[in-house]
Amino acid sequence: EVVTRFAPSPTGALHIGGARTALFNWLFARGHGGTFLLRIEDTDRARSTPEAERAIFDGLTWLGLDWDGDAVSQAAQAERHGEVAKAMLESGTAYKCFSTPEEVQQARDAARAEGRSTNFASPWRDVPESEHPEGQPFVVRIKAPREGQTVIEDAVQGSVTWASRDLDDMVLLRSDGTPTYMLAVVVDDHDMGVTHVIRGDDHLANAARQKLIYDAMGWTVPVFAHIPLILGPDGKKLSKRHGATGAAEYRAMGYPAAAMRNYLARLGWSHGDDEFFTDEQAKDWFDLAGITKSAARLDFKKLEHISGLHIAAAPDVALVEEADGYLAATGAPPLSDDQRAAFLAAMPHLKERAKTFGELFEKAHFALGSRPFTPDEKAAKALDPDARALLGDLTPHLRNATWERTALETACGDFAAERGIKFGKMAGPIRAALSGRTVTPSVFDMMLVIGRDETIDRLKDAAE
Ligand code: GLU
Repeated sequence: EVVTRFAPSPTGALHIGGARTALFNWLFARGHGGTFLLRIEDTDRARSTPEAERAIFDGLTWLGLDWDGDAVSQAAQAERHGEVAKAMLESGTAYKCFSTPEEVQQARDAARAEGRSTNFASPWRDVPESEHPEGQPFVVRIKAPREGQTVIEDAVQGSVTWASRDLDDMVLLRSDGTPTYMLAVVVDDHDMGVTHVIRGDDHLANAARQKLIYDAMGWTVPVFAHIPLILGPDGKKLSKRHGATGAAEYRAMGYPAAAMRNYLARLGWSHGDDEFFTDEQAKDWFDLAGITKSAARLDFKKLEHISGLHIAAAPDVALVEEADGYLAATGAPPLSDDQRAAFLAAMPHLKERAKTFGELFEKAHFALGSRPFTPDEKAAKALDPDARALLGDLTPHLRNATWERTALETACGDFAAERGIKFGKMAGPIRAALSGRTVTPSVFDMMLVIGRDETIDRLKDAAE
């Protein structure tokens, strides 16, 4: 059975890299009929905030990455972490170290000055319990092997080897009795039955140290898969200057969740040349072997392209439903019931070439707005006095036209011919009158969506 987990630290916004890590774990679990767990690594009380925790829940929920059971709080397991440290003390795989922070620092400084490894070699490693000072603070350190090698068989990075002398006797419990990150992660992953740890390759070196804890406890080491970071388009570490780094920002930029899943899945993983795929395909296809060793670059053009394909493929109703979340993310008011109905009716005419929810809404202005339509700057240019006179003259011709596409095309075409102009000349003014905008569906689609009376009223408004 496959059990994966996403283990974010709630210290800031959910980063797009974190969202991708969560996605890989989710895809792997779902594709194997396994379990996907969420653990909030909130042991750093000073830096963990409820807002950041909320951002993680919101981000995962938006992306549709549903986790099984309740999220686990790492801080809540502190007692259990302490018990494991105690078990390691008892088995002799860990020891109490009474060196003060100052002593540790001095030893490190001296080693650095002499060009030696700065790994701290505690003088307490082999001191028997009977010789321990009483009532003095201590940390618990692992008794790491001094000889040989530690090898991680990583599903992405391959076989990675550390000389044991390079891994120091890391601290498991601090002098105040709180567990360190290394101990907490291993105990929690073991207790949660995690079989596959898929995470950023910035944790690769940690895996070697964590393996020492698994070995000391006689626990099965999970499969590790350390995935390369996401870089900016220029190949440098992704940062604000490249654009959005937080998952929530992508929601506000108007990308549908399905498009984000599709695009993020392709960041550092591939299935042949397939670019556009459904969740079912992604779950089916996702495997650790397809994860690339080199870092993936964020490509906003590609994201837009994928997004457009998902918008075109999505059921209209689903887009209307997802639009609520987009509006909330941008701080816009929700749609009224009438607006929802109008948005849905207009949707078939909005989807073409739209790459974001923002573009859908831009095109939907004619359906969501209400009279009088104040033209934006560009639309106003189309409504010069000649054009307005023309619109006024056109209205009687629409009064008796059959309200379907061919009849409307004929009515407008005949009117233009009568005036000796091309219909193309009139399309701009009609568009501006019906929507107040220049980016809209075709004028006939708009007429059909809003109906005869509304069409005539808007043309008359503009003609006045
Ligand atoms: N909490 C760690 C982080 O946010 C991840 C730990 C892990 O995945 O093992 O970077």
